[in-house]
Amino acid sequence: MEFDLIARHFTRATPGAVLGVGDDCALLAPSPGMQLAVTSDMLLEGRHFAPQDSPAGIGHKALAVNLSDLAAMGATPRWATLSIALPAADDAWLAAFARGFFRMAELHGIELVGGDTTRGPLTIAITAIGEIPPGQALRRNGAQAGDDVWVSGVIGSAAAALAYRQGRLFMEQIDAAKVLPALYLPAPQIALGIALRGIATSAIDISDGLLADLGHILERSSAGARLEFAALPVLPVLQAYLHEPVARECVLAGGDDYELCFTAPAARRDAVRAAAETAGVAVTRIGHITSGPGLTVVAPDGQPLPVDKTGYDHFDE
Ligand code: ADP
Ligand code: MG
Repeated sequence: MEFDLIARHFTRATPGAVLGVGDDCALLAPSPGMQLAVTSDMLLEGRHFAPQDSPAGIGHKALAVNLSDLAAMGATPRWATLSIALPAADDAWLAAFARGFFRMAELHGIELVGGDTTRGPLTIAITAIGEIPPGQALRRNGAQAGDDVWVSGVIGSAAAALAYRQGRLFMEQIDAAKVLPALYLPAPQIALGIALRGIATSAIDISDGLLADLGHILERSSAGARLEFAALPVLPVLQAYLHEPVARECVLAGGDDYELCFTAPAARRDAVRAAAETAGVAVTRIGHITSGPGLTVVAPDGQPLPVDKTGYDHFDE
């Protein structure tokens, strides 16, 4: 039964692996001279997605959040493993989950080479493996005083969608429809991460909220930052709700965006813009790194914004 499920849903050609699904281990050979970048992320029903969420969407997001970590490191995706616990062998659910998973996998050239399948409360654990030339990984510890702080895409949409769904943020339905895709169908910034090799001094993906994730860069780099709230890239539809404290919190501290936050020397602005153009994504300069510690967000009136909730912490509820 279990072998049927694996064969039916999770076995695809893996031309980039020496050996894929079906034996005790997969066999992988990195490209000559490359280092491996390895990351894992786990998704639990009730915590990272709701029981009624679409299985194709869950498959998409489960892989996307792992790809986002490869993107934040500047790695090229190669292989993934998928460990899944599910309460019953629900063929239709698995078929839809696999459809979402492999659509994302094909988009970014990552191959499923193994995993584990067992019965239990719905849990999805993925390990993604990428490649990167030695010394070119976008680490968290390289931000320097004077560097610009950048973000890709727009932020706050996924958190606004969640707040809307939970009844914490009122939005017109027509507006909510424009932020919901960010929550269910995040797009990892793989091409941008690769294009920023040799340009960005540090990078992280925004999974827990801008302030919390930038905070990790600052901590590792022993630096501070000053951001302009008005410079933050926000969907026009969400901009209209920023008078609501909840909406502002979504932008500053809402998670699940999976955009990249990165730093680069001011002298490399043209290189950053060229990298973004190569990757086909928008990037926005939102502030700069300071030598003194602390993270300040300046409101449009020039006053520091009181920042209390910096992000979503799974152990702080
Ligand atoms: P073992 O008992 O050696 O752990 P399994 O029966 O768990 O082997 O798995 C058999 C094969 O199927 C292995 O190659 C494993 O990597 C693969 N596999 C199991 N579950 C999955 C899954 N959900 N997705 C992809 N490959 C899987
Ligand atoms: Mg096993």
